[in-house]
Amino acid sequence: MLEIKTVDESPAAGDYVFIFAKDNAVVSLQRPPDQFWLRHEAEQAFGDVGVGAPLGYWAGRPSYVVEVESQGLNAMEHLSGNLYSLFGRVPDAVFAAYGRALQMLSWKRDHRFCGRCGAETLLTDGNKALACKACNHSSYPRLNPCVIVAVGKGEQLLLATAAGRATGFHSTLAGFIEPGESAEQAVIREVQEEVGISVTNVRYFTSQPWPFPSQLMLGFFADHADGDIVIDPTEIAHADWYSRDALPVIPPPQSIAGQLIHQFFAAP
Ligand SMILES: [Zn+2]
Repeated sequence: MLEIKTVDESPAAGDYVFIFAKDNAVVSLQRPPDQFWLRHEAEQAFGDVGVGAPLGYWAGRPSYVVEVESQGLNAMEHLSGNLYSLFGRVPDAVFAAYGRALQMLSWKRDHRFCGRCGAETLLTDGNKALACKACNHSSYPRLNPCVIVAVGKGEQLLLATAAGRATGFHSTLAGFIEPGESAEQAVIREVQEEVGISVTNVRYFTSQPWPFPSQLMLGFFADHADGDIVIDPTEIAHADWYSRDALPVIPPPQSIAGQLIHQFFAAP
């Protein structure tokens, strides 16, 4: 897996580089996506790719994310696809590394200039921050914490489809944590807002980085306390209680939603 720590060597030909063209990961058709590019191979294929942003270490080698122009891609040699197309198709550690790479790249792109005074920024603090040359204001990569919750009622689980997003799945409810709110409070508020019921016994399960574009999903279980399902149609297209033997199509087991659902029905 990608070891997240400060890269203190100078960039070298033997570094790994994760290549993106806009938001698409670029892999070589000559080998599987978990055999990463070395810097000198990337330069051979695309010319000067710049230093990029350091990510940490993969298998003991410094690793960077770099950006190339889409026009430089050759359909006979390169495959470029959005990050989601890799989800579940490559080992989890490889997907997580690509996820970190895209988030660090997006952060660098979006903070080229200081949000406070508009001057240019430079990497600083062991490459962990972008600091303003003029006023010294620094920006760190931003994560957006979200809660995702499996609400149980006896042996039944609440599953819903989102309005306006054709995923084809019935899934657990999720939403962003608001400033000033605890994760548990967000669970209670989101469930109330989206399906009109109150929940109790909110308990933490596990978390998962979700780089679409930069969420950290915090998974919870909760129990139905009161009320019938009344959906908010701006958020939810359909919601109902489901039993183990009559499940609709659910998210893949690599996702935290899939894990919550599996765990709910696996519990004694
Ligand atoms: Zn500034």
